[in-house]
Amino acid sequence: MRAFRVVVGAGLLVAVLGACEPSEAGKVARTVKPSATPVVRDEAAVWGEWGLKPLPPAPEPPVDKPLKLGRKGPVKVFDRVPTEERVVFITIDDGQEKDPRFVQMLTDLKVPVTMFLTDNVIQDDYAYFKPLQALGNHVQNHTLTHPVLPILGLDGQKREICGNQKVLTKQYGTEPTLLRPPYGRWNWATQQAARECGIDGIVMWRASMQIHDMQYDDVNKKLHPGDILLAHFRGPEQLKGESMTEMFAHMLKRIRKQGFAVARLEDYVGRDVP
Ligand SMILES: [Zn+2]
Repeated sequence: MRAFRVVVGAGLLVAVLGACEPSEAGKVARTVKPSATPVVRDEAAVWGEWGLKPLPPAPEPPVDKPLKLGRKGPVKVFDRVPTEERVVFITIDDGQEKDPRFVQMLTDLKVPVTMFLTDNVIQDDYAYFKPLQALGNHVQNHTLTHPVLPILGLDGQKREICGNQKVLTKQYGTEPTLLRPPYGRWNWATQQAARECGIDGIVMWRASMQIHDMQYDDVNKKLHPGDILLAHFRGPEQLKGESMTEMFAHMLKRIRKQGFAVARLEDYVGRDVP
């Protein structure tokens, strides 16, 4: 019985060794690999698959962040970043639409965004946002239930902001530092509540993306260096049949037409003392 086992074992060993023996093709591949030129991403082709032309490349992130947020006193409220560079910042709110194609789009295009998420529309699928986060995009605070904050007292606002802070930290592993108040509505109590919940800045916007077009604060309907732009996780139900990726493609076209790159907000905004 024992001898039989040994024979079988030896037979298997030979088979395994045989499989490891490099074939001629394998040898060729091994000699070619080290000298092969690294694969260069064909940006035009990648963007072309989404019906787009590449945006200008974003400059290197500044060594010294141009917008510093203090950690004492009222939380700073801002809608742009002081910079001369031709960059704008994309923020995407709420989280209702969870289109897998959008994950593919950002994976392909590598356009940075900041996600301001509201718990009651993401809790059915927290995981959707994780691959977007893995691309380097930050998750930030947009309250638990999307109320008009100023009609709540300080305690009510704290429940909304600190509550979402807890959920997002648990789900995504990092504590948000920025708050987007729902409907862009805030008051002194929002600043106070945000401070007490560990938020450093309240982020407004200079232009917002609709279905096809951008709505500008500027009467000349132009983007300016450092502008913060608002979009939403929306799909066909909210966009009259257009998809999230179609809306986002329209947005990128508007940005490109005006000669701007898209940079990461958190590379330009941060605590004065880390
Ligand atoms: Zn919102």
